Amino acid sequence: MSIASVCVFCGASTGTNPAYREAAVALGRALAERKLTLVYGGGAVGLMGIVADAALAAGGEVIGIIPQSLKDKEIGHSGLTRLEVVDGMHARKARMAELSDAFVALPGGLGTLEELFEVWTWGQLGYHGKPLGLLEVNGFYGQLTAFLDHIVGEGFVREPHRDMLQVSESPQTLLDALDAWQPSVLPKWAEQKPS
Ligand code: AMP
Repeated sequence: MSIASVCVFCGASTGTNPAYREAAVALGRALAERKLTLVYGGGAVGLMGIVADAALAAGGEVIGIIPQSLKDKEIGHSGLTRLEVVDGMHARKARMAELSDAFVALPGGLGTLEELFEVWTWGQLGYHGKPLGLLEVNGFYGQLTAFLDHIVGEGFVREPHRDMLQVSESPQTLLDALDAWQPSVLPKWAEQKPS
């Protein structure tokens, strides 16, 4: 599959380590250099604003999707190619998913995790066949990926669904992997007969 747009989930904060900011810049720039449209939450704060600014500065196209209720708090970015204001969180996630061919999570907090896991579960159920990636920075996601392996070991997630999430420390390697990904994984219930 050839991707044209990538949704980035990331913190509305910058985190404590400058490495997070640097990774957001590197990803934003890499997206623009590859002529990939960045789709994101539309805010100007935290890593969200940094990834958007980096993509714009490198000549990229950036679409933000922000709920009306958060437009002031997350400071709707005024310099985007397009900022769509929607009714709420559910509409935001649905619209981001609709506009994107792939999803990447940078470091972030609860919102980032929620968005990543929701779109991953949609993929697991076969609602979409779009690739997902985690940009690992400074070991930020090490404990999460270890926990994911634990969940597989305990029999709650099957290996192919775990492997839908690709992990790399390099934006370039990650974007290459997302571009090459084939949706060959069977949905969670596909091979099981109803009891
Ligand atoms: P955080 O990772 O908590 O800093 O949040 C990053 C982004 O996720 C922010 O733009 C939040 O508004 C957004 N967010 C938080 N919760 C949700 C949710 N349930 N659905 C969609 N976006 C969310």
